[in-house]
Amino acid sequence: EFGEDEGDEEDLQPRPPVVSVMGHVDHGKTKLLDAIRGENVAAREAGGITQHIGAYQVSTEVDGEERKITFIDTPGHEAFTAMRARGAQLTDIAVLVVAADDGVMPQTIEALNHAKAAGVPIVVAVNKIDLPDADPAKVRGQLTEYGLVPEEYGGDTMFVDISAKARLNLDDLLEAIVLTADATLDLRANPNQAAQGVTVEAHLDKGRGPVATVLVQRGTLKVGDSIVVGPAYGRVRAMLDEHGQQVDKALPSRPVLVLGLSSVPRAGDNFLVVPDDRVARQIAEKREARERNASFAKRSPRVSLENLTELLTERQALNLIIKGDVSGSVEALEDALSKIDVGEEVDLRILHRGVGAVTENDVNLASIDNAIIIGFNVRAQSRSVERLAEQEGVEIRYYSVIYQAIEEVEAALKGLLKPEYEEVQLGTAEVREIFRSSRFGTIAGCLVTSGVIRRNAKARLLRDGAVVADNTEIASLRRFKDDATEVREGFECGLTLQNFNDIKIGDVVETFEMREKPRD
Ligand code: GDP
Repeated sequence: EFGEDEGDEEDLQPRPPVVSVMGHVDHGKTKLLDAIRGENVAAREAGGITQHIGAYQVSTEVDGEERKITFIDTPGHEAFTAMRARGAQLTDIAVLVVAADDGVMPQTIEALNHAKAAGVPIVVAVNKIDLPDADPAKVRGQLTEYGLVPEEYGGDTMFVDISAKARLNLDDLLEAIVLTADATLDLRANPNQAAQGVTVEAHLDKGRGPVATVLVQRGTLKVGDSIVVGPAYGRVRAMLDEHGQQVDKALPSRPVLVLGLSSVPRAGDNFLVVPDDRVARQIAEKREARERNASFAKRSPRVSLENLTELLTERQALNLIIKGDVSGSVEALEDALSKIDVGEEVDLRILHRGVGAVTENDVNLASIDNAIIIGFNVRAQSRSVERLAEQEGVEIRYYSVIYQAIEEVEAALKGLLKPEYEEVQLGTAEVREIFRSSRFGTIAGCLVTSGVIRRNAKARLLRDGAVVADNTEIASLRRFKDDATEVREGFECGLTLQNFNDIKIGDVVETFEMREKPRD
């Protein structure tokens, strides 16, 4: 694929964080995104009419410095995870919105798990504090149980009490985002290179043709650039910002609406600037062909309980997503799974657990993080979810009996462990005579006193009960004038040992092999 390297350390310049807003339905994600956008001074000064282009950038003052933040304007972790499934990670920080009257709800946890799985730091916005029954302390307590410990309790997650409706403490939230980015991330990009980035959303506009909102991730996108966006291509005819204002360039972390494409790309499609239109078209056509082929190919599961070898080489971890009919069964299953003793070598991680059918979301998350989905007394939500799982090579296993699920996961994990070997005795022989041969070295004339002596078997030599040679092998084995593969108890033979000639009459040759130890 096309695209330059980032360049050297000194070419990198700070870029604003890109933020997604997640949380349970009705907890105020949309309201918050609207409030932040509305508060923005720059928007008012620009005098433009606010447009929903899928992302916007705001400024805030932190420690006397003007800092920018880019918000993805599609609330919810579904979009976030669907993008990740396409290989695009544009979010640097997740804002987890929790309504202070409602507290932590199932989708709060789902969002949290998705952000965690992506390795994205979280800032918690405790919303609706204007309501009389708001209980921000309870939210803190609840989230602490899920590993988000507020700074004030000694943890490293920033919690900010806000009201999206009453526009309370929104600046504090913006500050918390900037501070979290500064503390945990090194957000830099080279603005002086051909631009690359991701499509946030796209559609066919009646008057303007195909339009796409793209987020520049590195480089600077300029009007007139030749660009490939997923299977679409073209020359950037014009760019608009979220106020409907024309801009002629876009720096890293800046979202812009791009006009001039040949067709409509999809959210999550990467874009890049190429030297000229011809190259743009070639790359786009190649991508389109690849996509056509890919959509016909049904992949077998990349990660399945039957074949965990990929995991063994990659990361020694089995990632699971558990979906169940009721929270009790999900908890019981999770509890039992986490008690499986797989030793130090393998890690069992439960990326997400929840009540309800297996959703597209679950499949996307599983696909990204090579997880297996366990459905306990639930099924895939629809045929299209099943199809997505097939396409993505994600295994969904259905169970209705807990111990059966445990047994199968346990068996698969045991198979992941490196085998242990044990020594199995084959036989012994006593040295009765010694012959020296210029060709073979020392040949020991032996009587096989127990079991069998086998050529190429592992061997050690004992003298008066002490080991005088270990880690050797039966290099050659003869009976009379003929090579033999094995000689049994009660028969005589001549043998030589690999790399060892100091054999004496009376020595005992012990042979054995290493066998994989059965596991219980
Ligand atoms: P979403 O589903 O998370 O996007 O939630 P919305 O932004 O649509 O908000 C759901 C409801 O909660 C709407 O009726 C909002 O007006 C209301 N709401 C959002 N934020 C606040 C707030 O801070 N205080 C109060 N009292 N209501 C709010």
